Amino acid sequence: MEKNIETIKSDDICVNFQDSVSKTLVRHKSILDIMSKMDVYSARVNRAVAKSVTNCGCISIDAKKQQFTGESYKDLPNTLDDHLRGEICEQCKEVLDLEMGNYLFYITALCDTIGLNLNEVIKHEYERNKTLGLFNLR
Ligand SMILES: [Zn+2]
Repeated sequence: MEKNIETIKSDDICVNFQDSVSKTLVRHKSILDIMSKMDVYSARVNRAVAKSVTNCGCISIDAKKQQFTGESYKDLPNTLDDHLRGEICEQCKEVLDLEMGNYLFYITALCDTIGLNLNEVIKHEYERNKTLGLFNLR
């Protein structure tokens, strides 16, 4: 029996989510379907952001060459521009939430099919990110 989402501890959410994905993945069980669905939903996330700019207009993009004006690496996050202007509206946020959720579903399905534990993947990435910090340079 699945637990009520409100009663799940935050540490267990990935484990429960992966278990839920594993049980509900029927139509696109093949790893080929999962890989191609990840591409579809990655594109849909990007499309949703683009539509927020071009259709809704709640956000806009004002991009130009990054100008690093800080003294050290520690100043990087504060001096670099995300090129995003405005604030995403509730309607666009809902669409993005849905598309990102679908993308996460297929990332999780790939983990499950290939034998990775989503919770461990996130923990390992968190550790790498904490350890490397700004030197990660992604
Ligand atoms: Zn919007």
